[in-house]
Amino acid sequence: MTTPEWAGTLAGRGAAALQETYARYPIELVTGEGCRVTDSAGRTYLDFLAGIAVSALGHRHPAITDALHRAAAGLIHTSNLYWTEPMVRLAERLVAAADMERAFFCNSGAEAVEAALKLGRKTRPGRSRIIAFEGSFHGRTFGALSVTAREAYQEPFRPLLSGVELRPFGEPVALDDDVAVAIVEPIQGEGGMRPAPPGWLAHLREECDRTGALLVFDEVQSGIGRTGAFFAYQTQGVLPDAVTVAKALAGGLPMGAMLARGEAAKGFEPGDHASTFGGGPLVAEVANAVLDVVLDDGFLESVRSAGLRLCNGLEETAGRSPHATEVRGAGLMLGVQLAAARAGELVAALNEAGLLTCPAGPDVVRFEPPLIVTDDEIDEALHIVSQGLASLTTDH
Ligand code: PLP
Repeated sequence: MTTPEWAGTLAGRGAAALQETYARYPIELVTGEGCRVTDSAGRTYLDFLAGIAVSALGHRHPAITDALHRAAAGLIHTSNLYWTEPMVRLAERLVAAADMERAFFCNSGAEAVEAALKLGRKTRPGRSRIIAFEGSFHGRTFGALSVTAREAYQEPFRPLLSGVELRPFGEPVALDDDVAVAIVEPIQGEGGMRPAPPGWLAHLREECDRTGALLVFDEVQSGIGRTGAFFAYQTQGVLPDAVTVAKALAGGLPMGAMLARGEAAKGFEPGDHASTFGGGPLVAEVANAVLDVVLDDGFLESVRSAGLRLCNGLEETAGRSPHATEVRGAGLMLGVQLAAARAGELVAALNEAGLLTCPAGPDVVRFEPPLIVTDDEIDEALHIVSQGLASLTTDH
């Protein structure tokens, strides 16, 4: 690769031209292939973040590039006032794979959460209370931020949506019959890669059935095969009334969806909710290509076995280090719990050694490689993690 003439300039130019909503790493990415990305200096990294659980098929997967070319040669966009075949096909396949009935398409995780919260209020008239859980992350728009349990993220923007209450994640909860919505991540991502304890989602289901609240599972991060099941709730024998999905759905193109079943699937009428771009033919064609791969025979099984290899390797590595206390998660959605708030320091060391990842809170480092990751790539990453942990000083 020839070095682009702008190499080394992006941090300075970006700081001047972009709003400061991210603390970016000093890495300028240019291209990618499979589970690897290359920076402007020609250095290659193993990508164990995958755009934060977005690039499920890695970079430049032929199924995605072919679908993009095919779709671009046809219609890229048309209004939701018309039918397009990729959108309808995608809705049919998604609801079938999710055990849901109807889809609403949008462009991001936060928008999918907004749709679910509105659906709850619409289908439960007179009820305004919304229950969310400690450690939750549901996005940055006002509604999604209101159910995101982060004081620092909420504080500058109050007043937020009224009626939201937080309850402890994973502990017994008693709902009242004026609750409209209970929203939860089956595996908390930003909150530290924390799976709900066994049986707890079923308990939430019972409480929502008893009180008539809409049960929403936010699978924006955990969905589309990430945990080794198409959706994480499918391993728990529990169905929500609605599920939110985004990130990996269109393999890197912006797309979100809110899927619902039963009465909730019929809750919206024309005028209640909408999205100009939602379900557009180009993104829908690419999402269909992602489903072709993820729903193919044996694919989820391969995610489970890759997840097991990574999890076992991380446990072994963590077991040898005084800095790591636990490995958590499911499938290829894994986090290493550190003994101290040193996730930033470890991530910087891993990035420097050629392994991209990021923290999930101050003391957890996450590992979410593309779902197509190979055994050799996992072993290579584990070697870097082992060295990274060893490089942390003990007298911190
Ligand atoms: N919900 C969950 C569980 C997430 O992990 C995220 C993003 O990390 C969101 C919602 C928000 O998604 P987006 O950034 O696409 O709005």
